[in-house]
Amino acid sequence: MLIQSDYHIHASFYRIKREGAATGPKVAEQQEAARVTGCRYVGIVEHCNDSSKHPFHCLEELAAEYYAEGFDRQDTYLGVEADLYDDGSDHCGDEGRKKLRLHYVIGSVHVSPQLIPTVEEYIQTEFTRLRNAIIYNRNVDVIGHPFGEGPRYSKAGIIPRWGYDLIPKEYLQELVMQAKEHGVALEINRCDMENEAYIGFWEAVRDNGVLFEIGSDAHFTTGCPASAERTHWAESLGLKEENHWKPFR
Ligand SMILES: [Zn+2]
Ligand SMILES: [Zn+2]
Repeated sequence: MLIQSDYHIHASFYRIKREGAATGPKVAEQQEAARVTGCRYVGIVEHCNDSSKHPFHCLEELAAEYYAEGFDRQDTYLGVEADLYDDGSDHCGDEGRKKLRLHYVIGSVHVSPQLIPTVEEYIQTEFTRLRNAIIYNRNVDVIGHPFGEGPRYSKAGIIPRWGYDLIPKEYLQELVMQAKEHGVALEINRCDMENEAYIGFWEAVRDNGVLFEIGSDAHFTTGCPASAERTHWAESLGLKEENHWKPFR
């Protein structure tokens, strides 16, 4: 049995919003929503990147709610989702991690067809960033939604269909082996659970005893139940709790 946990929940209250946009949840609201859906362990994050929506002071305010006196931190952890650079470094860095008193950093790639127009170039870019982060960046604990931007290319009509079968097999093997070697967890997040190549990737994670993490990537409380569904899927695939990453040891 896998213990249901979700370490990729956004407290999206802590970001700069357009006038009139919905106010996102705070830490306490997301913690409650995750617990209601059955999570034993909860991890709250927000984006840490160059975007004007995510200035560092927003993360400091989020951390202040988490560390406030009287806040129930039982089985609840604090992280960020930091954008990765080509050399594998992340936008938060060791300094940001210390300042915010984080338990973990999720390193992710966020791009779009506007930034990188072809899917081949996108795959190459994401592979380079993930591989370098896994090998060289000890500040990154978890790789967030590997190749999770692929669906943007089918939505934009650039390719007829997105799937892990478009990624060179040796790239996927390399990521699995390097994650194993360096003890970095790979995240089960929004992705194609019907795709054979995608299933094969997670079977390789299972067979090689690589750490994995499960994230809903919820930006509102309504997104939290996804962790239950993904945990069941991971369980049906035979992933084991002993390789289920935790922000504590
Ligand atoms: Zn992300
Ligand atoms: Zn996210």
